[in-house]
Amino acid sequence: MSTITPKIEVETTPNLVTKVYEKSQYKISTFRKAMHRPLTICEKILIGHLDGSPDFSPDDALVAGKSYVLLNPDRVALQDVTGQMTILQFMLAGLNRTAVPTTVHCDHLIQARIEGESDTKAAIYENNEVYQFLESASRKYGMGFWKPGAGIIHQVVLENYAFPGGLMIGTDSHTPNAGGLGMLAIGVGGLDAAEVMAGMSWELLYPKRIGVYLTGELNSWASPKDVILFVASKLTVSGGTNAIIEYFGPGAAAISCTGKATITNMGAEIGATCSVFPYDKRMETYLKATGRRSIADLANKHVNLLTQDPQIEKEICENQKNSINYFDQLIEIDLSDLEPYIVGPHTPDLARPISKMGEDIKKNNYLDTISVALIGSCTNSSYEDMSRAADVAEQAREKGIKTKIPLQVTPGSEMIRATIERDGQIQLLKDIGANVLANACGPCIGQWSRPELKQGESNTIVTSYNRNFPGRNDGRRETMNFISSPELVIALALGGRLSFSPLADELTASDGTKFKLRPPKIAPEIPEKGFKDVTDIYVAPADDPVSVEVIINKDSDRLQKLEPFTKWDGTDFEKLPILAKVSGKCTTDHISPAGPWLKYRGHLDKISDNLLLGAVNAYRDGEVGSGKNTLNCKIESFPHIAREYKKRGLKWIIVGDNNYGEGSSREHAAMTPRYLGCAAVIARSFARIHETNLKKQGVLAFTFADPSDYSKILEDDRISIIGLNNLKPRKSVNCILYHVDGREEEISLRHSYNESQLEWFRAGSALNILHSMEQTSL
Ligand code: SF4
Repeated sequence: MSTITPKIEVETTPNLVTKVYEKSQYKISTFRKAMHRPLTICEKILIGHLDGSPDFSPDDALVAGKSYVLLNPDRVALQDVTGQMTILQFMLAGLNRTAVPTTVHCDHLIQARIEGESDTKAAIYENNEVYQFLESASRKYGMGFWKPGAGIIHQVVLENYAFPGGLMIGTDSHTPNAGGLGMLAIGVGGLDAAEVMAGMSWELLYPKRIGVYLTGELNSWASPKDVILFVASKLTVSGGTNAIIEYFGPGAAAISCTGKATITNMGAEIGATCSVFPYDKRMETYLKATGRRSIADLANKHVNLLTQDPQIEKEICENQKNSINYFDQLIEIDLSDLEPYIVGPHTPDLARPISKMGEDIKKNNYLDTISVALIGSCTNSSYEDMSRAADVAEQAREKGIKTKIPLQVTPGSEMIRATIERDGQIQLLKDIGANVLANACGPCIGQWSRPELKQGESNTIVTSYNRNFPGRNDGRRETMNFISSPELVIALALGGRLSFSPLADELTASDGTKFKLRPPKIAPEIPEKGFKDVTDIYVAPADDPVSVEVIINKDSDRLQKLEPFTKWDGTDFEKLPILAKVSGKCTTDHISPAGPWLKYRGHLDKISDNLLLGAVNAYRDGEVGSGKNTLNCKIESFPHIAREYKKRGLKWIIVGDNNYGEGSSREHAAMTPRYLGCAAVIARSFARIHETNLKKQGVLAFTFADPSDYSKILEDDRISIIGLNNLKPRKSVNCILYHVDGREEEISLRHSYNESQLEWFRAGSALNILHSMEQTSL
C-alpha cells in the first residue's frame, strides 16, 4: 500500500481552480448582460457551472423551484457507506478513471466503543473487505483514498479540497460544510455522483435564495453554532427546502472560516440545498494555513466572482424591501445580540436560549440528568472550537474539578487531532475526564456502542453534532438528544444537568468554594505553530492503474459487482402481472428501507430482499410489504414474489399512488425493482427525482392520463403496454388491462421522457449508454 501526505494530491488543485474561474468569468458576464441586475454569490457559482452554451436570452428565465439546470461539478466526495454503490455503478460505465476529481473517505463505518485507536483497529478488521474494495477501486480509477482514521469526509474536504467559487457534490447530506470556504457543495444520491464521475452533467432544480444578513460580532458564550441554531428555529426543518442560503453583510467577515463551515454544515438540518458565505480574509487565512496559498492567491484575483455584487447589500441597507429583487426571503441577525442556544430533543428546530432551558425541562418533563456529553464531529471540531472548549476545561481544572458525567470527543480529522494534541487542548480536556474517540462519525450516526444502557432506558445526551432525530446517535429512540456549541456542552458536562446554565449557575470547586465559569476567550482560528503535518492517512491513485485489480470477494455478502442491466428486446410488454399496487404515501424509504439493510448497500442482490417492504398494499386493507403471488395465490412478501417471477422470466409492474417515490434520492429504490424484473411503474404522479432514477435504471415510468384509472387496476389483472417501438416525447401510450373475469379495458398512459431519456430505456440504463460510448471511442 503506497502512502503519501495529502499535500501531493492537493498540488494539482490550482490548475483546476484556474480553469473554473476562467470558465465562470465568461458565463457570468454573459448572464449579467442578459439579467441587467446585480448578482448574488449562489447565482454566480451556479451560472459559472452551467453545462453548455452560455448564450442567455430573456427567454432563458430561470424560475426558482420550477426550472431545472444542468451543471458541471468540479469535484465529487464519497463516504464509505454510500460510496460503495456509487463506485459499483461508476464501474459499469467502463471508464479507466473518473472524469472529475473524486475522493473517498472512510469515516461512517468506525464504531465508537472504547477509544480512538482501538476502535479504528477494530473497524479495519470488521470492514476489511469494504475498505479493500474502496481502496483498490480508488487506486484504479484515479480517486484519492482517505483511510479509516484520516477523518470525517467534510472536515477533510474543508482542509484539502474545498475552494471559493467551486461546485462540489457529495454522497452525504452534510456536504454543504464546504460552503464555509465559499463553495456550493451539495449532497446527492449515489447515482448522480456516479454519473458525474463518469462525465455526465448533473441536473438540479434551480433553487430559491434565502438571504441571511449578518451584522455585529459574536461575544461571550455565543458561537457560530448559535447562528445556525437560531436560523433553524426561524426557518424550521423544512424552511430551506429547494433553497440556497446565502450569508452576507459585515457580520459574515467577523466569523472564522471554520465557524462559517459549522453554519453551512447545518443548513442540511433545515432542508436547504446548500448554504454559502462570500469569500473573505478569513477564508484566505484558512487556505494559507492549510497549505493552499496558491488557491488563496487565485481567489484574491477573482474576488468579483466569489462575492455578491456590492450593489445588493447597499440596496438592502437602504431599504429592506429591496431584498425581494434578489432573495425569496431575508433574515437579519445582529450577532452581538445572539444568545447561546440549545436545541432538541429529536429535532434541530426546537430551540431556546440556554437561559430558558430550565423552564422547558419542567414544562416538558425532560430528564434533567445528562448521561453523556459529546463534542466534535464534522460540524464542530475546528481548532477554534476545540480551543474554546479547552478554555472552559482549563477553568475547571484550575478549580480542581472534573466533569460530572462521561465526556467524549470525536475529532474531525487526524490533522486536527494531532494539532490539538501537540498544542495541549486534548490534555486539558482529558484532565477534566474526557475520552478521545476515533476521527470518525461514530456516535453521530448510530455507530455507538452503549452496553451500559438498559433496553428501552430513557436518557439525556448533549452533543455539539448536527442531527438529533430519534435513534440518530446510539440507535435508541429513548435517548433524548440536545445540541449546542462545544463550549456549552463542556459547561453542561461540568454541571451534569441539562438545566445548568453557565450564565447563571455556579459550580463547586474542589476546596468547596463556589465559582462561575467565565465565557471562553476568543480563540485562534488557526494554530500559531501551524497545523501538524500528518502521514499515512492517504493513498494516492496508482501510477499504473491497469495493474490494479478491484478487490471484490466473490462470496461476500456486503459487496457484489454489478452486471449491466439487459437491453430492451424491442418488443411490447405483454400481459405482465402486478407485483404491488401501493396506496398512499410511498417514499423511497418505503420502497427500499434502511435500518438493518444499510450494511448491504454494496450488494444489490442482498439488498433487493427489502423491496417495497414498507409499501402499503392497496388491495389488502393496509397490509404492508406483502401481496398476492399470482402464480400460487398465496400472500407473500413483495421481494419474495418478485424473485419467483424473475425465476420464471416474468417481468412485472408496480402501480403507484400520488407522489410515488418522494423522499431522499436513494438509487436503491430504483435499482432493486429493476434488478428483480420490474418493467414499468405506473403511478398517479411521481416525485421527480425518483421518476428520473427509474428512467436512468431502465424502468419505464408512466402516469395515468386519467388519475381515476388507478382504481381500474385489479389485483389479478394482467397488463400490456403496447406500441413501445413508437415511444416518442409527449406522445401517450396505450395500456390494456386484462381482468380475470375476461373483460378488457384500455387506458392511456403519459410519460415525461425526452429523446435522450428514451435512449436510456432502449439501452437498458443510462450507464449502459455511457458504457457503449466508451467502447465506441476505444
Ligand atoms: S460526523 Fe455526523 S454529520 Fe458528519 S458526516 Fe459523520 S455522520 Fe454525517
